[in-house]
Amino acid sequence: MEKVIAWFRQDLRLEDNPAWIRAVESGKGVIPVYIHAQKEAGKWSLGAASKWWLHHALKDVEKQLARFGLRMIYRQGESEAELFALLKETGSRSVLWNRCYEPHRMRIDGRIKSRLKEEGCEVWSGNASLLREPWEVSTQTGNPYKVYTPYSRTCAKMPDHEPLSTTKSPKVPKDWPKGVSLEDLSLLPEISWDKGFHEFWNPTRKGGMGRLGAFLKAPVKHYDTGRDFPSEDGTSRLSPYLHFGQIGPREVAATVRKQTESSGLKTFYRELIWREFAYHVLYHFPDTPEKPLQPKYKRFPWVDEPAHLEAWQKGMTGYPIVDAGMRQLWKVGWMHNRVRMIVGSLLVKHLLHSWEHGAEWFWDTLVDADLASNTLGWQWAGGCGADAAPYFRIFNPITQGEKFDGEGDFIREYVPELAQVSDKYINCPWEMSEGEQIRANCRIGQDYPAPVIDHKAGRERALEALQKLKEAD
Ligand code: FAD
Repeated sequence: MEKVIAWFRQDLRLEDNPAWIRAVESGKGVIPVYIHAQKEAGKWSLGAASKWWLHHALKDVEKQLARFGLRMIYRQGESEAELFALLKETGSRSVLWNRCYEPHRMRIDGRIKSRLKEEGCEVWSGNASLLREPWEVSTQTGNPYKVYTPYSRTCAKMPDHEPLSTTKSPKVPKDWPKGVSLEDLSLLPEISWDKGFHEFWNPTRKGGMGRLGAFLKAPVKHYDTGRDFPSEDGTSRLSPYLHFGQIGPREVAATVRKQTESSGLKTFYRELIWREFAYHVLYHFPDTPEKPLQPKYKRFPWVDEPAHLEAWQKGMTGYPIVDAGMRQLWKVGWMHNRVRMIVGSLLVKHLLHSWEHGAEWFWDTLVDADLASNTLGWQWAGGCGADAAPYFRIFNPITQGEKFDGEGDFIREYVPELAQVSDKYINCPWEMSEGEQIRANCRIGQDYPAPVIDHKAGRERALEALQKLKEAD
């Protein structure tokens, strides 16, 4: 029996998966493969939270494959060496996969593709991750976009593709190559810090489809405003499912198209286009995970005080909305978008810490860590990327907290030291009198820290640094 290798990567689903469907329709025996090539991504190798998610997502695909009598073959090492070894071991002459857009992945995939072609093998790659390929969208002069709005306008003129499907079942090979077990990949943490993850997430395709359905039933109606309030279940929380490809953007967009039009729905669709924009920028500017898109920011006078970074990472900055966000991230591996913007601004602007340090911490702690969206988000926060917040726009962590968590529900959930602080002081507990601190069971400097930097002083310092950068231009 002829065999075909279906190489899974960030496309961990069997529906609307072009490479998988092509493998099934080939009529050849299908060998599903996942190669854990942890070292290939260098600095951006999978973080701890992503590994946790990946383990469960793979387990879920394994179960879906088992329904057809198929196995997932796990290998560890270098993608190229493992793939060619598999071809030899199985006698297959055919490899199919879906494209990834991370710079290291594109480099390696390109090399593998050329070698497979040279050796006369069939090699084919499809698009499982995006509504539009990054190179399909360009300005009138044929250049990539650096600003979201014109990018999204061009996208709006292009048709959305329907999700793919097949009525065929995969052919089961008679013999299987060797592989390691999913457990051998050691993706789960050695010490169990993941209790909060289990409570917050169902990291399976079913879990993702459930989230999409529940979101479209109610929160989407108020998404325009609800998406800014971290105590509300007002956003889809689809980001990890989209990152690992348990749900594809074509599937989400097609489901959205079937709903009655509403402004919430339109805004939600625009967010999906932000994700596309992030991939467009990463593809055209592959240096951006390490270098600011606006080159002058390479000379920015960062202060990079380690104690400040640690306070930020641990959720001990003394700014309640920031600390709640950072602790949410630690506990459940995800943070609300509004809060990501606030914590990003505090780190980069008030504390003058390089955006790269923020990106690295998020990389390790987010279950949805995604090189395209994380880079775009952090360069946005740092004012140095595509369509970035202007440098002088410095979020005020007190008024942001008052506006978006005025009653402190989100803060109290993640910062228990502040549980008894009244609404009046929940976003500025250091303003409590001594008596109020005693009544709230929260002594500033003892039970909860004083602000790591005064807001006004931090803001002025950031503006001064920007001024220096401008003068040096
Ligand atoms: P929803 O509001 O329900 O949006 C639906 C989908 O649209 C999301 O799942 C996501 O895929 C996409 N989306 C929404 N906002 C953005 C955005 N600003 N940029 C790109 N895509 C977007 N998102 C990641 O997926 N991975 C990251 O590593 C990541 N890092 C970020 C870092 C910073 C500093 C900032 C400010 C934002 C970052 N984001 C990242 C974007 C955004 O915060 C998350 O996509 C969003 O919070 C996920 O929650 P949700 O699925 O409920 O979003």
